[in-house]
Amino acid sequence: MIDSYKHKGQRKKLIKELRSKGISDEKVLEAMERVPRHFFMESGFEQFAYKDQAFPISKGQTISQPYTVAYQTELLTPRKHEKILEIGTGSGYQTAILLEMGAKVYSIERYRELYLRAKSLLNEMGYQPYLFYGDGYKGQPTYAPYDKILVTAGASDVPRELLDQLQNGGKMVIPVGDQFGQQMMVIEKTEQGDTEKHNRGSFIFVPLIPGKDTNNQNP
Ligand code: SAH
Repeated sequence: MIDSYKHKGQRKKLIKELRSKGISDEKVLEAMERVPRHFFMESGFEQFAYKDQAFPISKGQTISQPYTVAYQTELLTPRKHEKILEIGTGSGYQTAILLEMGAKVYSIERYRELYLRAKSLLNEMGYQPYLFYGDGYKGQPTYAPYDKILVTAGASDVPRELLDQLQNGGKMVIPVGDQFGQQMMVIEKTEQGDTEKHNRGSFIFVPLIPGKDTNNQNP
């Protein structure tokens, strides 16, 4: 894994582009400038790592567009030492951004192959996330409650289990809709446990699929 001057230069340009598209949280931009996105790309696609586009990873899934990663992270406002639950580890890129910002990250992926890959890559990079192969619809009750929850796949509704695992005073960012598009919902849980919802725009994610995939146990 090499992070060359060329990669660093391309990353600087991407950050400039994200800034011009309206991302303004310096902590988010700094984290994205530090994390080499090309480490997370499928082989053959590395040269496109600093384009502001989503790309295929295996299992028909995608590494989210950098703008989307930046936007969701900005809405989530991760702080150092916060417990954050991520649904949809995928490539692990978003996980790395949260870790880079000092959060304690718990992340769930329904494909074993993707889970294993993200685990070895993130460990190799020196991060220590808590990763799980399982069904993100159910969250991870063992470590609940979480200060923040970030869903990186399109959900048809807000899973009850996730809402239950969110700390009072906490926040969830989740794209809600159908396969043609979702609304980026920010759900804040008050200290009294009530919820307030805000719509923060249209996006298109791969779908959140109930249940973990049980094919290919030995990739
Ligand atoms: N944050 C990732 C986004 C990957 S795409 C990245 O930037 O790479 C969304 C991911 O959510 C996919 O890997 C998909 O397999 C996963 N996913 C979909 N439904 C899920 C579920 N019920 N539980 C856990 N992961 C799920």
